[in-house]
Amino acid sequence: MWIGIITIFPKMFHCIINSGIIRKALNKKNISINIWNLRQFSDKKNHKIDDHPYGGGPGMVMTAQPLRSAIQAAKNCSPKDTLVIYLSPQGNTINQKKINDIAKTVGIILICGRYEGIDERIIENYIDEEWSIGDYIVSGGELPAMIIIDAISRLQPGVLKKYSIQEESFYNGLLDYPHYTRPKNIDGNFVPKVLLSGNHKHITQWKMKHALKNTLFKRPDLFKKICLSNEQKKIIQKFKKNN
Ligand code: SAM
Repeated sequence: MWIGIITIFPKMFHCIINSGIIRKALNKKNISINIWNLRQFSDKKNHKIDDHPYGGGPGMVMTAQPLRSAIQAAKNCSPKDTLVIYLSPQGNTINQKKINDIAKTVGIILICGRYEGIDERIIENYIDEEWSIGDYIVSGGELPAMIIIDAISRLQPGVLKKYSIQEESFYNGLLDYPHYTRPKNIDGNFVPKVLLSGNHKHITQWKMKHALKNTLFKRPDLFKKICLSNEQKKIIQKFKKNN
């Protein structure tokens, strides 16, 4: 998958390119990351890319000229059907389902805003979609872009084991089950016996039950979006009764 980034802080991306899952996806050539420094597209002195808002108000707005030129430059290098995305708190909130869809696309150009955001005419004429990482404000689109690139990289073939992805929260609509590692006893708190039993059938059942329990007590809203089996419904009723 081809990923383009338009930013005034290209160096922020060095750390993700050189570590962890994203580096693995890059090494395997599952993804390519291509960065455009917005300032280099400014036709103003000092590579200025912002100006005061018309109508007054706080802060600065990123101007149209460098954004338009940078988007064109990125598009010239990107595969056909690449989507141009503005990272924005006003966009649709990204979830795992959306990430699964994005990971299947040929390419995306991520535009990282700063200050009060970008000139509205760029959004109207050059942006295909606006994506948000949630209902809160961060100072720029760079961290949201990194979050999306990380989530996409995990899904690339060969980067993680398939079953590892399939057992994560949200994959099948539920939260993940609880995890334990050595030692067996921490201050009298023991690892559930079944996990030490070596009985794979019982372990699988325990994991399913506790994924349901986690979802019931932490994110019951998720049940509205999935179809539960009769067995799963019974397990939930039991947890509710015992609580
Ligand atoms: N004035 C804007 C508003 O209230 O809608 C917020 C501007 S924010 C300080 C600067 C930039 O950070 C935005 O242009 C956007 O690129 C990015 N950003 C901030 N919060 C975001 C979020 N929740 N999701 C995605 N991008 C975000």
